[in-house]
Amino acid sequence: MNTKISRIVIVFFALSLIALLYFSFGSKKKVELDSGYQLVMGTFARVVAIAEDSSTAKKCIQIALAEIRKVDELMSDYKIDSEISRINCDAYKAPVKVSSPTFEVLTRSIEFSKLTGGAFDVTVGPLVDLFRSAQEKGVAPSKEQIAQTRLKVGYQKLKLDNQNSTVTFSVDDMRLDLGGIAKGYAIDKAVEVMQQCGATGGMVDIGGDIRCFGAPPKHRKHWLIGLQDPNKTTDEFGMGESLLVLKLTDAAIATSGGYRRFALIEGKKYSHIIDTKTGYSSDQLASVTIISKNATNADALATAVSVMGPEKGLALIEQLPQTEALLITLQPKLQLIKSSGAEKYINPDFQNR
Ligand code: ADP
Ligand code: MG
Repeated sequence: MNTKISRIVIVFFALSLIALLYFSFGSKKKVELDSGYQLVMGTFARVVAIAEDSSTAKKCIQIALAEIRKVDELMSDYKIDSEISRINCDAYKAPVKVSSPTFEVLTRSIEFSKLTGGAFDVTVGPLVDLFRSAQEKGVAPSKEQIAQTRLKVGYQKLKLDNQNSTVTFSVDDMRLDLGGIAKGYAIDKAVEVMQQCGATGGMVDIGGDIRCFGAPPKHRKHWLIGLQDPNKTTDEFGMGESLLVLKLTDAAIATSGGYRRFALIEGKKYSHIIDTKTGYSSDQLASVTIISKNATNADALATAVSVMGPEKGLALIEQLPQTEALLITLQPKLQLIKSSGAEKYINPDFQNR
């Protein structure tokens, strides 16, 4: 045999042996556990935990799901005994004392309102209600009704007292709706408890808003997340074809879009995202996906950019550190608009368009 070839063969076998020894003895085997989909926060949640042993991974999944349920108990406006419902009921009459997570979410919400010039606004509740009842009646709200309802909306009318952890409404019949931020916040809390519990990696998904951290699943360099094609929705949960696949490491992603939830009134589609400045639903984009360091930012900014539209929305995202956006315009001119740093998150092995 040619000596050059035999030398290459020997080197190849030596390297293979080293790799085999490393994977057998050198690296500790990690355990990966998946909770599967669980019904929570009115949607499906899924947690994946990677840890040194299976009991740690199992415990991490349990506490993450418990944490998500806890956030839901505090912040759901559907649950009549939640803190948000208590605020909605009493905060005009007297200041309402709340727990630190609720106070934190409201503080962050006001920060996002200021950052987005009021595009993000958790006091949107009365307008959400107006469109909900319009849908039930099958009659679109009048301009007069919108104007009247807008008087009960506006983040400046929501007062937070840091000293006493209390919340007050300055106008009667205001109503908070945390639908645009609570999922992101719950994801961040779940990640926090998993890290404390000893997970070396993991992923938390609530209704398609996702944050992943640490080591990705085995044989992968990144966590791979599919981004749905909003114009090819196939079922009632909005599950459809992926437009592209994103690769993430220690990052969060959230998508907002009228394609998943809308009201059909007098034959017209109204998105569930409302521009509080006009009182009407915002439907400039088919979907808005934000990639950010944490899920609270991604969730709130996805809702805000849906309201702001492509130009103003993208201008804001370009100013924010470690934040990127992928916008999909409405049919018939379906177009993917990316912020300047978004490309690095797109997996080149899978791209439809
Ligand atoms: P999804 O619920 O589909 O994930 P979002 O994160 O954008 O989408 O949340 C939309 C929800 O946010 C609405 O259903 C409503 O509860 C609330 N919302 C609507 N308009 C606004 C707004 N301008 N600012 C903040 N929250 C909003
Ligand atoms: Mg949101």
